[in-house]
Amino acid sequence: MQWLRSLLGLHDHADLFSPVPPNPAQDALAAIDDLSRAMRNHQGAVDICSALGNLYRMRGELDRAIQMRSSLLHRVDLSREDQARVWFELGRDYSRAGILDRAQEALRQCRDIGGENPALDLELALLHAKGGDFLSASRQYKKMGHNLQAAHYLVRAATTGSGVTDLGLLAEAREIHPASPEAWLEGIMFQINQEAWDNVLVLLDQGLGAVGPNLGFVLLDPLLDFEDSGVPVKAIIPASYLDGLLAVIDKHPPDLAPLHYAGCLLRAHDRVEEAKTWQEKTLLMSPAFWPARLELLTMSLPEQHMTPVFELQLEFLLRRAREAKRFVCGRCGLKRGQIFFCCPKCMSWHSITIRQLLSDEGS
Ligand SMILES: [Zn+2]
Repeated sequence: MQWLRSLLGLHDHADLFSPVPPNPAQDALAAIDDLSRAMRNHQGAVDICSALGNLYRMRGELDRAIQMRSSLLHRVDLSREDQARVWFELGRDYSRAGILDRAQEALRQCRDIGGENPALDLELALLHAKGGDFLSASRQYKKMGHNLQAAHYLVRAATTGSGVTDLGLLAEAREIHPASPEAWLEGIMFQINQEAWDNVLVLLDQGLGAVGPNLGFVLLDPLLDFEDSGVPVKAIIPASYLDGLLAVIDKHPPDLAPLHYAGCLLRAHDRVEEAKTWQEKTLLMSPAFWPARLELLTMSLPEQHMTPVFELQLEFLLRRAREAKRFVCGRCGLKRGQIFFCCPKCMSWHSITIRQLLSDEGS
């Protein structure tokens, strides 16, 4: 049972004193070969080898997983169903290893032998997305009825490549999944770059209605220029369009973030008294909403008479508060300074929220 000892990382005591040091990687690869040979004629051996391959993949030992599948595929008694299964897992191994052309080939073999199935469809969609073929990823998700992801990858396809936003693809994305914030956001950003402010307001009005109050802030975010520290420093939208924008925000059900953004935009255009009113509206909805408190404090500073020492201390505290990341995943609590559509930690879609509490723990 040398292969089993090797597999478990055990070595004979004598190895410690032998002139040639043991090589665990070679031992394990030899063990896989031994295991495959030993089980060649055993019922259920395919399941055991597959499970072992999956364990290797989970541990990140992808070369061993690939070796295990390849040995299995050499077996002459493998049923077609098992062949398809092993090709599928081999495709996943190659995909995790970043060898995308081989992953594609293995998944094609799986489809040729075993036909289509939902797990294969999902793996193909992930593979297209990973390889940067966003249009194929979108089509694949659409075929599976996953419209949210289909719209997301259409937007990625519309904004990568030639450097010119493909408005046709954006419109298609909004048709597939009308609540897609990224589809509306990219349309709005395109109109902002064109300085077509009437179009910006029309899209904002439609978009705020489509994505709902919870995600409305995503569409308003590009109207303000934030410093790295998250301080709103300047309004992107011209002063002459500000009242039009406030009317659009007012048309939709009130929510903390849109009211807060309205206040920030007003302050950026030196309409301080109105800005205070909008920030106070957010505090009526949620007294703990710290971004509004920070804005109100900042606006009231010129009215205060402070000693230089006090001013210095306050400035330090305000700077630290502004360094806090502005967004948080509503599902897992991950904090981020930038907008995200799929949480990089828990992989949930459109779970982004404005960080409401400064006391939130975590990174
Ligand atoms: Zn998350």
